[in-house]
Amino acid sequence: MKLVSRSQWGARDYRLPNGATPYSRPRRGVKLHYLGTAYTDRAHDRCDDYVRQIQAQHMDGNGWSDIGYSFVVCTHGYVYEGRGLKRRNSANGNTTLNDQDYAVLLMVGSSGLTKPTTAQLDGARDAIEYCRKSGPAGTWLGGHRDGYATSCPGDAVYAWVKAGALRPTAPQEEDPMAGFTKQDIYDAVWKTDQVAAPDTAPDRKTNTNWQPQSYLKDIGNRVRSLTVTVAAQSAAIHALAEKVGSGVDTDTVVAAVEKAIADAVVKVDIDVTQNQES
Ligand SMILES: [Zn+2]
Ligand SMILES: [Zn+2]
Repeated sequence: MKLVSRSQWGARDYRLPNGATPYSRPRRGVKLHYLGTAYTDRAHDRCDDYVRQIQAQHMDGNGWSDIGYSFVVCTHGYVYEGRGLKRRNSANGNTTLNDQDYAVLLMVGSSGLTKPTTAQLDGARDAIEYCRKSGPAGTWLGGHRDGYATSCPGDAVYAWVKAGALRPTAPQEEDPMAGFTKQDIYDAVWKTDQVAAPDTAPDRKTNTNWQPQSYLKDIGNRVRSLTVTVAAQSAAIHALAEKVGSGVDTDTVVAAVEKAIADAVVKVDIDVTQNQES
């Protein structure tokens, strides 16, 4: 919260004894207010001038002992300390109402700037949470017009506070995948499980932590082993057929071996499928 203390905004001292009157009980919640006059937005370095002007109007015009509000929120989201958390405000209409809820002013007008800014709503939410946490104040939320005949805090602020005084919608988050290349995604999906060599890898049926890379290594290892075995058998059959000579057709033997290889590959596919599903 961007809290501006009384000394930081140049507040006048409040008058005693009324300015020091404490709350007699915990606050039910927070009531919001608006200026109720024309207001034009201004550069932030002029906001404290305006807060001092409000205090002067309340002390010199209304004859109050201090600025009436507990806190004042400017359009830039800064929260000015008025009577603060402990001293009873004088803005809610009468002593009972002042004692019941905190009074937070949003610096928007009944004409000119009438809709609070995003930063201001954030600041108002900050002030509400501060009152609840450090006041203490309960969860009740409303406006000056609740229980008192006034248009304050204006329709825009009133609608917002009665809807729960939610923080303004945060800016749309950026695409969470922005900045990742296809290679990053491939590496993340097909990451290894640090199994160095397929020969020493634990059996996948007993190691449920295997990553895709190890399944690929395992399959590759089985196919290579099968290929070497079939090639050796094929060579042996060639040599045998040539030794036997007449009566045995070498081409027929080779064709039979090739069919056996094809069948073996089909069987490997079935084994792999079954193992992956198990
Ligand atoms: Zn008001
Ligand atoms: Zn400001």
